[in-house]
Amino acid sequence: MTDTIFGKIIRREIPATIVYEDDEVLGFKDIAPQAPVHVLFIPKNEAIPTLDDLQPSQAHLIGKLALAAAEYARREGLAQDGYRVVMNCREYAGQTVFHIHLHLLAGAPLGRFGTAG
Ligand code: AMP
Repeated sequence: MTDTIFGKIIRREIPATIVYEDDEVLGFKDIAPQAPVHVLFIPKNEAIPTLDDLQPSQAHLIGKLALAAAEYARREGLAQDGYRVVMNCREYAGQTVFHIHLHLLAGAPLGRFGTAG
């Protein structure tokens, strides 16, 4: 398994504020939040570097990340007002950690996204 800082969080080798966990998914607060609520959801058992590396046999993991984010949002009372989920892939999207992850951003109206430059 390719190691990253997220691997160290999974193994509890470095601290993180863990807010969600099930058999396959770990959710923890982003260290540099871009919104009042910014949580990252990652697969615990497979370190897939980017969305481009996802294999058909691993496709269910994306659904698990989405379900975990939605459950967390409901639990925290964020679902009514809404939220954004984002997955960055490689350089142009600004990906910095190469262990696939879903960002959950919430807690205030969010600006538009996807502009170049
Ligand atoms: P990305 O740019 O999509 O690769 O997102 C990686 C995210 O991981 C960034 O938002 C970082 O702030 C976050 N991050 C990096 N190191 C840590 C850490 N040790 N604990 C929590 N979040 C982290």
